[in-house]
Amino acid sequence: MVDSFDQTHLWHPYTSMTHPLPTFKVKRAYGTTIELEDGRQLIDGMSSWWCTIHGYNHPELNQAVISQLEKMSHVMFGGLTHDPAIELGKVLLKITPPQLDKIFYADSGSVAVEVALKMAVQYWTAQGKTQKTNFVSTRSGYHGDTWNAMSVCDPVTGMHQVFGSALPTRYFVPAPISTFHGTWHPSDIEPLAETLEKHHHHIAAMIIEPIVQGAGGMRFYHPEYLRQAKILCEQYQVLMIFDEIATGFGRTGQLFAWEHAGVEPDVMCIGKALTGGYMTLAATLTTKHVADTISQGEASVFMHGPTFMANPLACAVALKSTTMLIESNWQQTISDLAQTLTQYLQPLSVLSTVADVRVLGAIGVVEMKNAVNMAQLQDLFVENGIWVRPFGRLIYVMPPYVMTKSTLQTLLTKLVDVIEQIKE
Ligand SMILES: *Cc1c(COP(=O)(O)O)cnc(C)c1O
Repeated sequence: MVDSFDQTHLWHPYTSMTHPLPTFKVKRAYGTTIELEDGRQLIDGMSSWWCTIHGYNHPELNQAVISQLEKMSHVMFGGLTHDPAIELGKVLLKITPPQLDKIFYADSGSVAVEVALKMAVQYWTAQGKTQKTNFVSTRSGYHGDTWNAMSVCDPVTGMHQVFGSALPTRYFVPAPISTFHGTWHPSDIEPLAETLEKHHHHIAAMIIEPIVQGAGGMRFYHPEYLRQAKILCEQYQVLMIFDEIATGFGRTGQLFAWEHAGVEPDVMCIGKALTGGYMTLAATLTTKHVADTISQGEASVFMHGPTFMANPLACAVALKSTTMLIESNWQQTISDLAQTLTQYLQPLSVLSTVADVRVLGAIGVVEMKNAVNMAQLQDLFVENGIWVRPFGRLIYVMPPYVMTKSTLQTLLTKLVDVIEQIKE
C-alpha cells in the first residue's frame, strides 16, 4: 500500500520525513466514498477537512469546472475581471453579514487571514493610529500556517514553541469555558475586558473563530461571548475579524456561525467549503467603512495582490457549489445529520476512556482522556472501511452533507466499534 516515492520524497501535513506516517493511496473518490488503489472503499467522515460538502466527483460541480475551462482557466486579476468572480461575489454578499460589502479573493485560508490582519493594520494606519498594529485572540484558536496566521493560533498547541522569537508576540486571553449548549459564565469575558483596557492602544483587531474553535480543539462555545466581545471591541476601538474558514457554508447549523450570536464582524474570512472541496479559494470580506478608510489613507490602496487572485476555475466551481447549497434544504439536512450524530456518539460518554462527546450541526466530536495513537487508529478505521483522521485527544467526524442516513449509520457504527476498543 505504502508508495515508496511518496514516503521518500513527499512531505505530508505535519509529518516527519525520517519517520513519515503511513499514507493510503487513493485511486478515485465519488459521492461519500474514497476508493483506495487496492479497491477498498472507505466512507468519508472528514469531508477532506471541512471542504467537500456535496461529496466527490459531483456531476454539476464537474460541469462547472469543464464549462469554465473551455472559456479560460485563468487570467490575471490586475486590470482584468470576469463573470465567475462577479457572479460569485454577488452570491457571497447575499449570504454573509449585511454590513460586509467588499470582497478580496485570496488563494487559501491562511492567506485570507493574512489579508484580514493587513486590512486591520492599514485601517488604523490610515487614521494616523500607527501604534495599533497588534492583535488579540483567544487560546485554542487556529487560523492557518503562514507567519502571522501562526502567530494568532493557540500559543501552546500551535507552533509558537517551534518558531519561538521568530513569531510576533500577540495578546492571548483564555478561551471561553461556557459551552454552546451550557449556561453563560459572565467571568468568561473578564480577561478580554482587562486586556483591551490595558493594551487597546496597540491592538488593531481581535481575531476569533465564531462559535466553533476547529483545529485548535474542536470546542463549541457560548454565543454570548461574541456579543460581549463585540461590545468591548467597539468600546476600545478594536476591529473584529471572524475566521469562518471552517465554520462557513452550513456546517454548524447556520449558514455562517456568526448567525448563532447575531454579531456582525468588521472583517470576515471564508474558505474551505467555498469551492465544495474542488480547489483552493478563500476570501476576505469587509465593510464599506473599513475599505474606504484604507483607501483614503496615505498608501491609498490595499497592499496585497496574489498571482492567482480570483482564479476563474475556482470562482466558477465556488459559484456552483454555493448556489447548490443555498437552493437546497440545507437546514433540514444539517439537522438530520446532527440528530444521527448525537444518537450514535452520545452513548460513548459513559466510557471511562472518553472525556466528552459533543455535536453541533454536522460536526461530531469524541474527546478522549488521552492522546490517541494516530497511525494505529487510522489503520483500524481503514480496516473497518471508514476514513476518519483523529488528532491529539480528538476523534471527530464532519461528513459531507450528501451522506445518506444509512451510510452515516454505517460510518458511526464502525467508528463507535473502534472507539470502544481503545484501552486507555
Ligand atoms: C483551515 C483553516 C485555516 C487555514 O486555511 P488553509 O486553506 O489551510 O490555509 C484558517 N482558519 C481556520 C479556522 C481554518 O479552519
